[in-house]
Amino acid sequence: MLVVRTRAELRAALATVPRPVGLVPTMGWLHAGHVSLVERARGDSATVVVSIFVNPRQFGQREDFAKYPRNEARDLEACEAVGVDIVFAPTVDEVYPPGFDTVVSVGAIAGPLEGAARPGHFDGVATVVAILFALVGAERAYFGAKDYQQVQVIRRMALDLALPTDVVTMPTVREGDGLALSSRNARLSPEGRAAAPVIHRALEAGTALVGGGEREAAAVRQAIFRVLGSEPRVTPEYVSVADPETLAELDRLDGRALLSLAAFIDGVRLIDNERAGG
Ligand code: AMP
Repeated sequence: MLVVRTRAELRAALATVPRPVGLVPTMGWLHAGHVSLVERARGDSATVVVSIFVNPRQFGQREDFAKYPRNEARDLEACEAVGVDIVFAPTVDEVYPPGFDTVVSVGAIAGPLEGAARPGHFDGVATVVAILFALVGAERAYFGAKDYQQVQVIRRMALDLALPTDVVTMPTVREGDGLALSSRNARLSPEGRAAAPVIHRALEAGTALVGGGEREAAAVRQAIFRVLGSEPRVTPEYVSVADPETLAELDRLDGRALLSLAAFIDGVRLIDNERAGG
């Protein structure tokens, strides 16, 4: 496994590798969710590239960039163990060289939900992913459904900018108690960790209601809020019942819906989502 830190080293390493190339962009603190993406990439590709970069541009001023968990040595071991060929672990200045002055800004799909809760977040995501797509030139790149809107934003960008990398989405990997794996789970206190499965339980209550025939989106949002409210440590930020294509909030559910939420537990911000309806 080759570990490269500069744009030039990455390009040089990729010049002669067998194709197709699969790219898995990450912010490190790798867990079984990331590993599921790498394993899929390994199965599809002759060469697997993982990027490890905590991207400052996708964090707001008051967000947790400084506190985001980092452990490169452990991440490199995990990459080696799943058969990664190249790890790209650049510094901030290498990704954004002096004078860097470009923003990739995706439109309507980046507006609601995470885009509304975290102004500028998706500009940061789209910009760094565009750089990674350009540098790696992979046939495919792999993303997790846990960050549903992120995948929609990246798909839109790749289509609009004619980027030659196909976007592949993988299902959310969960703990036994339903909590979606996330690097941020490492920041939960033991009590917070014990409370956190309520997020998935709340979404399941929503999908069960829809499955039982409920068609009023407001009733579904209310049911999700009610379950979240059973855990005093949890502070919901938003609960959404939206069209899975446009992410616009629904009044009535006629086809499929995306149930999603963001909530703080002990100051740690977690997100999750479930598809509902037929
Ligand atoms: P991150 O390091 O959190 O930026 O995540 C890197 C990639 O892994 C993104 O495409 C995420 O959607 C994906 N990912 C994160 N958590 C999970 C999970 N629990 N299951 C599947 N994919 C995940």
